[in-house]
Amino acid sequence: MTYPGGRHCEHEQIVVKRDPAAGLYAVIAIHDTQRGPAVGGCRMWPYPSERCAFDDVLRLSRAMSLKSAMADLPLGGGKAVIVGDPARDKSEALLRAFGRFVEELGGRYRVGEDVGISVADVEVMAQETRFAVGRSRASGSSGDPSPLTARGVLVGVRACLAWQRASDSLAGVRVAVQGLGHVGYALCELLHAEGAVLLVSDLCADRVARAVTELGASAVAPDEILAQEVDVLAPCALGGGLDAQAIERLRAPIVAGAANNLLASPRCGDALFERRILYAPDYVINAGGIINIASELRGDYDPDWTDQQLAAIGPRLTDIFRESEATGVPTHLVADARAHRKLQQKAA
Ligand code: NAD
Repeated sequence: MTYPGGRHCEHEQIVVKRDPAAGLYAVIAIHDTQRGPAVGGCRMWPYPSERCAFDDVLRLSRAMSLKSAMADLPLGGGKAVIVGDPARDKSEALLRAFGRFVEELGGRYRVGEDVGISVADVEVMAQETRFAVGRSRASGSSGDPSPLTARGVLVGVRACLAWQRASDSLAGVRVAVQGLGHVGYALCELLHAEGAVLLVSDLCADRVARAVTELGASAVAPDEILAQEVDVLAPCALGGGLDAQAIERLRAPIVAGAANNLLASPRCGDALFERRILYAPDYVINAGGIINIASELRGDYDPDWTDQQLAAIGPRLTDIFRESEATGVPTHLVADARAHRKLQQKAA
């Protein structure tokens, strides 16, 4: 929405919580609730400054609105960040204090896991708030969304292959996966089962070693993974990984991965298009987790409904590729225009 003075302000609410006793400094950003309550994970990361934490939560929460609208879900977009090193600073007191923060918002924001926060951590938050999602299956919730995100990415990779090669077979297809966390490793397992050849990288050597041993993957140094000569590049680490420099070095004809806010700037999407690299817009291909959470919020968790919605990621991407080819507009801009139109519509 554009306000007097020409300022473009999108977010509905941004709330900061500082709780020194619990060691908590957190920000919740609610981007848009026109379609439903704001849902999005909580990320814990050692941001070097308050400004970096704000930038991240604003971008991530906006992406959640676009993601849920694009997937036709009755949800709005929100996200939270906790400033701190998850390996060093996470404690029960901190997680519970964050849970109370979520509760204070009365359900306008629902929290799940994200980078640095596990499903077990969400369970601790849930001791203080009714508004935690993607909790364990044992608690009657929909469980870890990450495997579902990976399944959605696999559907998207197939759609990209079908668009470029007229076959969506993964047998012998070379895929470079950056990041072997909750989503990246699950994606590797699915790709391996379909006969893909894996090249993998992670900052954590143990995760790489496991992929080499269990999935026959080839290990690649973190600063080389984006430049591998492969059929598909699947970034599943942090956002912002594709900047102008990285795009110049790419040798994959397809970029299709789980990382949120993968493009360092919209201009990077244009650069991919100019290089004729097929880009599956991040918030379209990585919607599997939020789809699974939406299934939980509909009432009874329904895996069949989730499967149907996951399958829809493929045709949704193909439609975007078709419009992009017909109009000469890069895929990220086609997706943005579609998602913004849906944001204005009430959820069905
Ligand atoms: P995670 O924290 O479990 O895994 C991230 C992995 O990336 C870690 O193993 C980390 O060591 C690795 N990593 C970080 N920087 C790296 C680099 N430069 N090179 C190689 N590896 C690097 O997180 P996740 O839940 O698997 O999420 C991965 C991405 O997918 C994130 O961008 C997240 O926002 C996005 N995403 C996740 C979900 C979900 O359901 N978990 C849903 C949608 C989008």
